[in-house]
Amino acid sequence: MTTEFARHLQQQLQELRDAGLYKAERVITGAQGALIQVAGAQGAPGRTADGREVINLCANNYLGLSSHPQVIAAAHEALRTHGYGMSSVRFICGTQDLHKTLEARLARFLGTEDAILYAAAFDANGGLFEPLFGEADAIISDELNHASIIDGIRLCKAQRWRYKHNDMADLERCLQEASAARFKLVFSDGVFSMDGTIAQLDRMRELCDRHGALLGIDECHASGFMGARGRGTHEHRGVFGQVDLITGTLGKALGGASGGFTAARREVVELLRQRSRPYLFSNTLMPAIAGASIAVLDLLEASTALRDKLEDNTLWFRRAIVAAGFDIKPGTHPIVPIMVYDAVKAQALSARLLELGVYAVGFFFPVVPKGQARIRVQMSAVHEREHLERAVAAFAQAGRELGLARA
Ligand SMILES: *Cc1c(COP(=O)(O)O)cnc(C)c1O
Repeated sequence: MTTEFARHLQQQLQELRDAGLYKAERVITGAQGALIQVAGAQGAPGRTADGREVINLCANNYLGLSSHPQVIAAAHEALRTHGYGMSSVRFICGTQDLHKTLEARLARFLGTEDAILYAAAFDANGGLFEPLFGEADAIISDELNHASIIDGIRLCKAQRWRYKHNDMADLERCLQEASAARFKLVFSDGVFSMDGTIAQLDRMRELCDRHGALLGIDECHASGFMGARGRGTHEHRGVFGQVDLITGTLGKALGGASGGFTAARREVVELLRQRSRPYLFSNTLMPAIAGASIAVLDLLEASTALRDKLEDNTLWFRRAIVAAGFDIKPGTHPIVPIMVYDAVKAQALSARLLELGVYAVGFFFPVVPKGQARIRVQMSAVHEREHLERAVAAFAQAGRELGLARA
């Protein structure tokens, strides 16, 4: 490497640090759960917590399945019976019975004809649009869609429209402007991760029907717990079985390891197996993840207890944190944005919470708009009421000390 190039990189890193945009990674020294052990974060002075156990409020471990005994046992069993690695892509010798079973089970769970696995949801979105749509087609996308959707659409030759976030009138404008296209697809996050906003899929379905468009959603923050049976945003909004393309992750509520999927009609999945580049040219899930994911679906189809507990925790926490004097973005999703507005104060609050035994990260510009800094917490079925009570007490104390809470 030339010194000029190294210097060029160092300069960019310094610019990130100077702008307060540098992301330090906190090291966890045990399993994911309600309580986690944290080591100090590199490059985050004043925020070290030296191996203490703290209440974790920022994992996507919505159902507490990341360390669930049945899930771990199923992973062990698959490791024993199917080995560690695939050492091949799917179409050469990288498909096991576990992968076929998991695809069929995901399709059933999500209410579609078939499903196809990817190494990650990022790949599912990255490999979705280009094989299905061409120059004659139009893709209409919410302006706040996830980075992987944006990248996936960029790889595709279809014409692009962007509508204002969650704005149905603006979506209809795009549908009208795109009326000459051969096929039209409207694509949105099912749930948006910064605010916990739930897409209006019932109204979107209606608009798509009126304009002859397909509807697709990314269910990463929904699969497993949204809707009465936890099937997702489509169930929550009363359009189960009526969404054309569904992408999602195994890396959040559904066990939290890694892996993604696209669920859709048989023809869609069949064509993706032929043409989707992240599927064709990259290994799929390790057998242990496939086996454990089947156990996750067994658990979720047998009982709604975990999603019910998550719903309960969410309701309780949203009320309690407001009673403690904080503003939140209203809603019902287990993502609860606790508004601090000012970036420096959000960081101070997060640091003080860690001292008080609560791990909750601050988000500020450019991740969220300027003046909208917040602590985004996420509820989990693994939280007991006692954890949440302690967390709210810590917020109340830190809020008083920093002059943030109203009460
Ligand atoms: C987390 C997330 C992804 C990426 O999921 P991975 O399986 O970790 O790649 C994609 N889309 C949305 C909306 C997400 O929240």
